[in-house]
Amino acid sequence: MSVDVVVVGGGVMGAATAWEVARRGTSVLLVEQHAPGHQRGSSHGASRIFRHAYAQVGYVELARRALAGWRELEAETGRELLTLTGAVDHGDPVAVTALQTALGEAAVPCEVLTPSEASARWPGLRFDTTVLFHPAAGRLHADAAVRALHGAAGRRGAEVRLGTAVTSVTEVGGDGGGVRVRLASGEEVTAGAAVVAAGPWASRLLGGVGGLPALRVTVEQPAHFQPTDDAAAWPSFIHHPGALLTMARAAHGVYGLADAEGVKVGFHGVGPEIDPDRAERPIDAAALDDLRRYAETWLPGVMSTRAVPLTCLYTTTPDHDPVIDRSGAVTVLAGFSGHGFKFGPAVAALAADLILDGVAPDPTFALGPRTPRSEEGMPR
Ligand SMILES: Cc1cc2nc3c(=O)[nH]c(=O)nc-3n(C[C@H](O)[C@H](O)[C@H](O)COP(=O)(O)OP(=O)(O)OC[C@H]3O[C@@H](n4cnc5c(N)ncnc54)[C@H](O)[C@@H]3O)c2cc1C
Repeated sequence: MSVDVVVVGGGVMGAATAWEVARRGTSVLLVEQHAPGHQRGSSHGASRIFRHAYAQVGYVELARRALAGWRELEAETGRELLTLTGAVDHGDPVAVTALQTALGEAAVPCEVLTPSEASARWPGLRFDTTVLFHPAAGRLHADAAVRALHGAAGRRGAEVRLGTAVTSVTEVGGDGGGVRVRLASGEEVTAGAAVVAAGPWASRLLGGVGGLPALRVTVEQPAHFQPTDDAAAWPSFIHHPGALLTMARAAHGVYGLADAEGVKVGFHGVGPEIDPDRAERPIDAAALDDLRRYAETWLPGVMSTRAVPLTCLYTTTPDHDPVIDRSGAVTVLAGFSGHGFKFGPAVAALAADLILDGVAPDPTFALGPRTPRSEEGMPR
């Protein structure tokens, strides 16, 4: 078989790229090793936060581009995939003010509230010292969005092959030689270009790509709490540590949002490293207890004793910026850590620009050495 582009990985990044490349008129094969909706990677579940509030203006602009892409996908599929509820950032004044500055620079409307004003608006939350609200935020319906991307890619002419693993991606010859992609079934596919969007498995296929930063894979464990009032309004929220929030496990912040399964709450980026092929994902009882304690103090609108945990993998680069770059005929989309979902259509557009138009990558996302940075102040 021969196509223009093979995309490896049917999570949000691979699926969005297959859709984008197909709608630019290119023949595409999307290959995903697991069944639709599988829970072994990073894109599954009812919801993900969509927000513009980043301290780096580049990310604010990327979110803006992604919002337009999500709306185009909704128009094309006739499904609501992104519900705007607004988002609050609260806690450490330095962190929250940096977000306000970047939103201001990018002309994204936002407002500062006192904790008591915010509590009056959203009684389900107790607010820390500084509160910033921006309305252009909310929740993405994650499983539905990935399904919609697969369907839209297919309708644009892409072949979507599920339940088939890619075992190798090899560049053929020199510049312009394309790639040879082997599938576990034994089939071999030749293509002008490959996109590897393999999430936590990226390092397995990309051993030969120079400049690939170390990718740290961790298992994270948020939980759903039942709200005490089903009719209550919930914004998406990020609680930045350092002011009143001093719990050790909340050292990188706490995020949350309401979805069809309850109010999802998680500690950001504190899970242990894991091999993504490990079959079982044991629940960490101590981490779940800490989430309950957090809910008891900060979420008066949920039943803090009733928490249903779930697991999901983060794949993180040393500096927390993902890789969106091309090495010869292989485009790498990797390291989207705990905040990448929202950017799906915008990342896909950058990938298509790289593959089809040879546009140089944004240096923030380029292959090559990365300087390790701690979680503090990192995009999330
Ligand atoms: C707990 C948690 C909360 C999060 N919250 C948010 C949030 O609120 N907002 C937000 O924007 N982001 C959030 N994220 C981050 C976001 O979900 C991820 O950044 C995003 O889903 C990464 O998508 P991906 O396509 O890169 O990886 P994945 O979804 O893992 O997709 C990779 C796919 O490649 C397939 N694959 C791998 N190897 C092969 C192979 N050899 N052959 C074929 N297929 C292969 C895998 O099976 C997998 O389906 C969160 C993540 C987690 C874990």
